[in-house]
Amino acid sequence: VYDAELVSAERAKEIVPSLSDEVRGGFWVPRDAVIDVFEMVYASMQNAMENGVKLLLNTAVKDIQLENGRIQRVLTDNGYEIETSYIVNCAGCFASGISRMVGVDDYSNVAKAGEIYILDKNLPYAPSCLVNPLPKPESRGILIVPTVHGNTLLGPNVEYRDDVEDTATTRAGLEQVLKSVQRRIPQISAADSVTQFTGVRPTSDPGGWKMRAIPEVKGYLEAVGITGAFGAGPAIAVTMRELLIENGLKLKKKKNWDPVRVGIRRFNQMSQKERNEYVARDPLYGHIICRCETVTEAEIVEAIHRVPPAQTLDAIKRRVRAGMGRCQAGFCSPRVVEILAREMKVPIETICKNEPGSEIVVRRNRMERKDENA
Ligand SMILES: Cc1cc2nc3c(=O)[nH]c(=O)nc-3n(C[C@H](O)[C@H](O)[C@H](O)COP(=O)(O)OP(=O)(O)OC[C@H]3O[C@@H](n4cnc5c(N)ncnc54)[C@H](O)[C@@H]3O)c2cc1C
Repeated sequence: VYDAELVSAERAKEIVPSLSDEVRGGFWVPRDAVIDVFEMVYASMQNAMENGVKLLLNTAVKDIQLENGRIQRVLTDNGYEIETSYIVNCAGCFASGISRMVGVDDYSNVAKAGEIYILDKNLPYAPSCLVNPLPKPESRGILIVPTVHGNTLLGPNVEYRDDVEDTATTRAGLEQVLKSVQRRIPQISAADSVTQFTGVRPTSDPGGWKMRAIPEVKGYLEAVGITGAFGAGPAIAVTMRELLIENGLKLKKKKNWDPVRVGIRRFNQMSQKERNEYVARDPLYGHIICRCETVTEAEIVEAIHRVPPAQTLDAIKRRVRAGMGRCQAGFCSPRVVEILAREMKVPIETICKNEPGSEIVVRRNRMERKDENA
C-alpha cells in the first residue's frame, strides 16, 4: 500500500459525510476493495470444472487410508473412494478431524464466530468506502462495508463458541455490532436491516496459519487455520503448489487449459435495449421471479444447467441473487422451487434449501391429493 494517508476529521467527513462528529481523524486507504465472494468462488470452480476438475457435492471425507506411511485412498460417506497419492487438507473448521485420520494431532479447531448485519440498499447514510475502526490483535474490528450489490454490511464481532457448527445469532452479539458501528455513523439503524447471520472463522489452537507438509505422512499436506484470509486465497494456492512440488508431485502444464470463464449475464445490469433483445430471443427473460433483485426465470434456468449446477434454493440465491433482497425470498422461493423441480425433472418434495434434510415441500396439500385420487 503506497498511497494511504493520515487525514484530518474534516477530510474524513468529506469522504464519508455521515461520519460522527466525534471522529477525530482517519487513515485513508483509497485502493481498499470489496469483492463478491460468491461470484469469486463460483467463477473459480466453474473454470476448474471446465478444465477437468471433478466436484463432489454433499460428500464428506470419512477416513483416509495409508500404505507404508503414504496416502493411498480417501473414503467418503456416500461410498465414493478416491485413489490418490496426495491430499491437501483445507477443511476449514473441520480440518483437525481430518488431520487426526492420518495421525496428526498437534492442533484443534476453535469456533471464532462473528455476527453480521446486512442492511438495505440506497440508505442516505451508507458510506461509499469501508469504514473500519482501529484493528485489534484478535480481528480487523467491526466493519462498515459497502457491498458490490449496494447493500451495507456491518460486522463481524468476535465470539468464541463451543461448537464450530453453532451459527445462531444472539441479541447480545447483534447489539455489540450495532453499538460499535453507531460510534462511527450514528444514523445506522437496525430498522434498515434486511437479514442477520453468523459465520464461524476456521481458527485453530495453537493459532496461526498452517501451510505445511507432514514428513511422517507422505503425500499429506495442510492449509489450515486460515482465518480472515479469503483475500489471500490465490497466494495460499501458489504456496501449496510449491509445497506439493517440493514433496515430489510431478506437475505438467496443461496445453489446452482454457482461462476464459463466462458468467451469467444479469438482466438487472442490462440497458433497456439489451433487455428487449434478450426477451425477444428468450421469453423467460420477461418473467421476473425475484422482484427485489430483478432476477428473471432465464437466469435461474441458466444457473441450474451450468457447471457447477445450482440445484438448491441457496445455490440459486448465491448464483443469481434470487432471494437476496428485502423480502428475503418470501415471494420468490415457491417459484424457484417449482423451476428447480421442473428443470431437474425431480419431484418437488426433493428440492432442498441447501443440503439433504432441508427439503422445503413436505407433502402435497389436500386438494392436490384429492385430484390424484380422482
Ligand atoms: C465472520 C467471518 C469474517 C471473515 N472476515 C474475512 C475478512 O475480513 N477478509 C477475508 O479475506 N476473509 C474473511 N473471512 C474468511 C475466513 O476467515 C477464512 O479465511 C476463509 O473462509 C478460509 O477458507 P478455507 O478454505 O480455509 O475454509 P472454508 O471456507 O471453511 O472451507 C472449508 C471447506 O471444507 C469442507 N469440509 C469440511 N469438512 C469436510 C469433510 N469431512 N469432507 C469434505 N469436505 C469438508 C467444507 O464444507 C468447506 O467447503 C471471514 C469469515 C468469517 C466467518
